[in-house]
Amino acid sequence: MIPYGRQIISDEDIRAVEAVLRSDYLTQGPAVPAFEKAVASRVDAAHAIAVNSATSALHIACLALDLGPGDLLWTSPITFVASANCGRYCGADVDFVDINPDTFNICPDALEAKLDEAARTGKLPKVIVAVHMCGQSPDMVKISELARAHSIRIIEDASHAIGAEYMGAPVGNCAHSDITVFSFHPVKIITTAEGGMALTNDAGLAARMDRLRSHGITRDPALMTHAPDGPWYYQQLELGWNYRMTEMQAALGLSQMDQLDTFIARRRSLADAYDTALEGLPLFRPERQAGAASSWHLYIIRLHDFVRHRSTFEALRADGIGVNLHYIPVHLQPYYRDQGFTLGDFPTSEEYYSRAISIPLHAGLTDQEQAQVVAALKKALVG
Ligand SMILES: *Cc1c(COP(=O)(O)O)cnc(C)c1O
Repeated sequence: MIPYGRQIISDEDIRAVEAVLRSDYLTQGPAVPAFEKAVASRVDAAHAIAVNSATSALHIACLALDLGPGDLLWTSPITFVASANCGRYCGADVDFVDINPDTFNICPDALEAKLDEAARTGKLPKVIVAVHMCGQSPDMVKISELARAHSIRIIEDASHAIGAEYMGAPVGNCAHSDITVFSFHPVKIITTAEGGMALTNDAGLAARMDRLRSHGITRDPALMTHAPDGPWYYQQLELGWNYRMTEMQAALGLSQMDQLDTFIARRRSLADAYDTALEGLPLFRPERQAGAASSWHLYIIRLHDFVRHRSTFEALRADGIGVNLHYIPVHLQPYYRDQGFTLGDFPTSEEYYSRAISIPLHAGLTDQEQAQVVAALKKALVG
């Protein structure tokens, strides 16, 4: 089976992890800060907090923005469940804004209409999670302008998008948000096995997230309620978690950063090749937004004929093509149906779900494998 995504691990990556295993520190050593510094400087953000997953990063990001019971978090339905669950972890309610049919990202017009309505009814969200679906930035200029008008905080879920650019600048620089989150799961652009990072330009948010990833504990006397009892002293200021990244993971991530540009270049070239090879087939190719240069985490086609969606998917799997579907609309998951959502709530997302297929795209995909994918698609769709 040709997988839809997978990691590339080089000999340098393996040597970097081995060196950590032979060193004094397996956790809380020098590798995590070195990885944070490398990512922060690459994406032009002031602060970076490495954690054990993007899910954890989203959680501490919401906590740092003081999201809690009685508050609302909004995101779009076409995303991984973690973009919404982070609100629930904090005791907040979650609601959704439908997608733009061509980019699969949150639709700024739908957002504007829903914000106007919410302003009238006094149900404005405290936080909006803007997802960079497939690695392409949403319309952050418009989204941040709308959010600012209502004092709403913004988290960019850029789990797909390290290495992408928006308006000529790197995604992650938080120019249009409070916090940006990356994932380093093996199918994403670079990997630390499990891992994630929160980026911000706000020193206060960074300090808070730094504490929250490690039990809410500080060793900074300036933050303590009284002078330290002695050199051993620390204080727990609030309830935090153990979301720390290990040294092995950070060493792997640091080494993977050396390959980020190569990975992105290969993904972009494969996406261009798909655009050309799939021309004329009864499917919609992904649309490219002006001002956004995608990292191409996913290449998603949508079939003209939704009646053949399932059979096409099955035919491709039977031909050894590891197709997938990103994502089942989050509001239709049983957990969210239990919160009151139902079929018909977000029609554009549901329509997308009836046609979408993710075809293999990763930096290790060979030209020959890509030709196999294209041949199998042609066979399934036009015989
Ligand atoms: C992968 C992913 C996450 C969660 O990432 P983990 O590192 O696996 O926790 C969150 N949001 C989106 C959009 C993702 O694709």
